Amino acid sequence: MATVPEVFTPLCRCGLAPETVTHVVLRCPEEDAARAALESRLAPRRLPTAGIMLRWLLARHRLPEFRLAVEIGDEMRLEDNGDSAD
Ligand SMILES: [Zn+2]
Repeated sequence: MATVPEVFTPLCRCGLAPETVTHVVLRCPEEDAARAALESRLAPRRLPTAGIMLRWLLARHRLPEFRLAVEIGDEMRLEDNGDSAD
């Protein structure tokens, strides 16, 4: 069923499984309430959901390894938008 590649990570804070994207987004019982809010944000749209899910994960302080990728992406966007004004 999983379509997101599993990456080895330490055990989730719930203690039931490794803290993978699949576990946190779909199964972790500690995220039941937050998951309901996420589903209401995703329901009206089909795409792009990846960005919404990533921001949700970061806001939940989960999978911190993704934060570096977001920071690098933000820096690259700033550099692209900040073309030299000279
Ligand atoms: Zn969990």
